Amino acid sequence: MGRQASPPLTIGDRYTDLPGHFYLESIPVRRIILFPLLAACAALTVPLRSQEIAMQNSPGTSAPQASVARLPMWMRDSAAKLERELVAKYGEPQRPRVQRGLHQIAEFWRDEDGGAPVYEAFVRSNFAGDQAALDTTFNRYERLLEQLDGHMHEINREFRQQMDLDLGPVLPFDEVFGGYDPSAHVIDDFFQNKLAFTVLLNFPLTTLDERLENGAAWSRRQWAEVRLAERFSKRIPADVNLGIAQAGAAAEQYISEYNIWMHHLLDSRGQRLFPPKMRLLSHWNLRDEIKADYADAQNGPAKQHMIQQVMERIITQTIPEAVINNPNVDWNPYTNEVKPAAVKDSDSVPPAGNVTSTREPDTRYAMWLKTFVASSKADPYSPTAPTLIARRFDEDREIPEARVKAMLEQVLTSPLARQVAKLIESRLGRPLEPFDMWYNGFRPGSKYTEAQLDEIVAKKYPTPEAYQKDIPNLLMKLGFSPERAQRIANNIVVDPARGSGHAMGAEMRSEKAHLRTRVEKSGMNYKGFNIAVHEMGHNVEQTFSLNDVDHTLLKGVPNTAFTEALAFVFQGHDLELLGLPAPDTKSEAEKTLNDFWTTYEIAGVALVDMAAWHWMYDHPQATPKQLNEATVQISKDIWNRYYAPVFHKNDVVLLGIYSHMIDYVLYLPDYPIGHLIAFQIEERMKKAGNIGSEFERMAKMGDVTPDLWMENATGKPVGPEALLTATQRALSQVTQ
Ligand SMILES: [Zn+2]
Repeated sequence: MGRQASPPLTIGDRYTDLPGHFYLESIPVRRIILFPLLAACAALTVPLRSQEIAMQNSPGTSAPQASVARLPMWMRDSAAKLERELVAKYGEPQRPRVQRGLHQIAEFWRDEDGGAPVYEAFVRSNFAGDQAALDTTFNRYERLLEQLDGHMHEINREFRQQMDLDLGPVLPFDEVFGGYDPSAHVIDDFFQNKLAFTVLLNFPLTTLDERLENGAAWSRRQWAEVRLAERFSKRIPADVNLGIAQAGAAAEQYISEYNIWMHHLLDSRGQRLFPPKMRLLSHWNLRDEIKADYADAQNGPAKQHMIQQVMERIITQTIPEAVINNPNVDWNPYTNEVKPAAVKDSDSVPPAGNVTSTREPDTRYAMWLKTFVASSKADPYSPTAPTLIARRFDEDREIPEARVKAMLEQVLTSPLARQVAKLIESRLGRPLEPFDMWYNGFRPGSKYTEAQLDEIVAKKYPTPEAYQKDIPNLLMKLGFSPERAQRIANNIVVDPARGSGHAMGAEMRSEKAHLRTRVEKSGMNYKGFNIAVHEMGHNVEQTFSLNDVDHTLLKGVPNTAFTEALAFVFQGHDLELLGLPAPDTKSEAEKTLNDFWTTYEIAGVALVDMAAWHWMYDHPQATPKQLNEATVQISKDIWNRYYAPVFHKNDVVLLGIYSHMIDYVLYLPDYPIGHLIAFQIEERMKKAGNIGSEFERMAKMGDVTPDLWMENATGKPVGPEALLTATQRALSQVTQ
């Protein structure tokens, strides 16, 4: 289940999807914790342990937080009175629950919620003092929140329809409908009408440490209660949320217009290496051009060197401001000389005035700092995850930062990196260059050309309806029983996509999952089929993890990486679904090596992202220029530690180029973790043989912590071993 607005997770070269699978992404909360409050809370029981332990293990204890001192005097008096009263009424065994509930409410109660009479009346009438009352409260909330989530999502899906489906022109108001989020104020509303306080009074907020340590022993109902309470674990003021959204939008806007006009790059002899009109967005298109240039035997290396030089100028902000998104100037990125364009390859009219080579004034880092300042304003309202770093790791990912770091380092220091690098060097016939971290020469071979595959697919699927009709058959080929296959197929609606395709699951059981796929007039092509199979994997996961999970409060999977991994399992069998032979061992090995190299690259990028956030928290008054210098230094340090021994070059800054650092803050660690998770699941599927039953067993686990989910799925917590083992095996297979 997505917990934050996320860009698509792209793993390797495989296609992905997803314009917002889940409406819940727009709810800024979910997942987390709370605590320190009134002292003396030693008796808290399952699933909460003692308050002291919660405080010790929580990353939140050093930051601003609600405390006894902040509580108004009347609330302390009222709480003491209510505790005596409720314990007298419901019995001594209820004392820990009473104390916990009162603490949790006090953390979020504001003056506008009412004074002592309102507070006391609320607690008296809403505390569920026996099991029957608690069951009723739990069941009713579960049912009604499913309805809320489901219908909000339904509105969202309908409002986006014109934008998402192939239904003719999109009018300006369609985009407004598409961008409207009916759930944006739900959390605020639930605090205002006190439905949130009823949850906080009766169900436990937990820390990540508690969930990791005790979660395996919890019943499913306890897990569902934990997820219920988490929805209301933060009450961030509207103006703070607005500031975060504005800073994010400004950063996104900045990144989305950061184009380099490639025909206007000049080498030392004044030559233009790139074709007219080529406009590349940093960093994605620049990186992809480096990949594509491996195919250009003549100019490829010179182009790749030049792109690396451009990237370094962006990172260090020595890029002339005038060359950004401007086809009216020519630029030598080595000497940094800028002059009016000698050729014209756009309709853009040159602005009046002189062309200068004045550098971009650290705007990249100013944007980043603004997102830091805006998001850190939420810190005081998130007591035990009081930094964005803690919120991303403890809440969104639910894998502690230290563990993520250790897993990434395990990949980065693996001796396999050197071995794979040697293989790349032998294929390239030269020593590695820094830009070879984007080497793309590991490719599965195919017996069929794309044209042959297109023909096979077009014949089989001339229309979306033809694909829809074949879904039960496809699922049976993947090992689902006829009954299961039919039941799942009945829950999937196939729609014609405007883009390349995506999957949109439901949020309540009475709704269906939607598979959006692209079918040309001449019929479906192979690329479309490959994507459709991936999206179908999402739909099947969505069906099991909503309709067959035992509590709808546990619907979904731990995070995006899990649903992607399950979708990749389907996608990896697309040839067999067409009745063709599966990829051979060598092809599989090439794919594995590609995944390893991609993980190796992005793991370092993620470490740069993480280190930069720590630096910002350590230097909250920093200027953009200082953040620039710090990021450059961090990039060099991480390069020197993990990559220099493999590339034999020092002080490379390239790891700092990723645009997501600026516009989707602290999202990058999800990429390498996603690779690790995908490998674990795929390896397990291979061992099990029957995809159908394994898939169902895994997907029904629902939204628990990643480690617990993975233990249930594979017997081991999340980790890099599956990827490293597969890489070792692949190396021996391709070098035989
Ligand atoms: Zn996907």
